[in-house]
Amino acid sequence: MDGRTSQEAVIRGYLRIPGLPDGDLELPYLQFQGRAAGPRLTLLSGVHGCEYSGMAALREFLGEIDTAALIGTITAVPVVNLPAYTSRTPFVVPADGKNLNRCFPGDPSGTYADVLAHHVFERFIRGADYVIDVHSGDLPEVIEPLVVYDESAVGEAARQIALAYGTEHVIRQPASARVTTGTTSAAAADAGVPAITAEAGGNGVVSAQAVATHLRGLRNVVATLGMLPYDVERPSRQIEHDRGWSWIYSPVGGWWQPLAELGKRVDEGEVLGRVSNLFGDVIHEVKALEAGTPMIITTSPAVAAEGLLMALTQEV
Ligand SMILES: [Zn+2]
Repeated sequence: MDGRTSQEAVIRGYLRIPGLPDGDLELPYLQFQGRAAGPRLTLLSGVHGCEYSGMAALREFLGEIDTAALIGTITAVPVVNLPAYTSRTPFVVPADGKNLNRCFPGDPSGTYADVLAHHVFERFIRGADYVIDVHSGDLPEVIEPLVVYDESAVGEAARQIALAYGTEHVIRQPASARVTTGTTSAAAADAGVPAITAEAGGNGVVSAQAVATHLRGLRNVVATLGMLPYDVERPSRQIEHDRGWSWIYSPVGGWWQPLAELGKRVDEGEVLGRVSNLFGDVIHEVKALEAGTPMIITTSPAVAAEGLLMALTQEV
């Protein structure tokens, strides 16, 4: 059932998602109808349930939308992964332990995350003209402000909104080497919808700086699309990366101490951090296999064997 009840300029609705093990989920969404026809833009946050700076920025942005000035339609889901948000579960959907952002476009006959992804995809992503999915680092990590889009038939349109978002780093995920599959933006790209994943913040906090980064990004994109009359603010320098990610995992569990800094380029062979055992002895030293820029750093010292330590990108 769709919760739409009127032709008001702002609709507050619930998408009912049936077929879940613990009963139907009612997912709140907002829809802003502009004064004139134009692009249909979908805004998502909380696909990961503890990425609060992204959610906070989207809340603030939605609160300032003036439908009397708006061209087109903005549809927003403030918290997509509602069960993870409610239970403060990082990365995954608590019912099945799956990362929701690896499950798109979803599967109506799958487990909880697949069903949720399916309904969100069909209702909010398929049929949109553009999609922005707002993220942050999750509870144990921080992320450099960046935007990711996928190489696809609509890749150039996605690139334009990625650049408009205004982060210094813009990452194109090559179609031939998709490291992260099943994301909202990758599944959207496959369905012919230009989409970006925007990142800033982390560690389970609402960071004023990260919120400002996302808020500027959202304003920039709607202005670039001609939907609302904001002044576009972009940095003088934007770096486009197109070789995807280099993910670094720990071969051993222990106490992780990162030494590299977020967004600060490292040379090949540079020590990125150390893992020690609980007696205090260093048992693993992490060195950069090639030059790159740390974009994600696990800040939590607690690391398990095969746990993610860091992700780097290489410049074009
Ligand atoms: Zn995320």
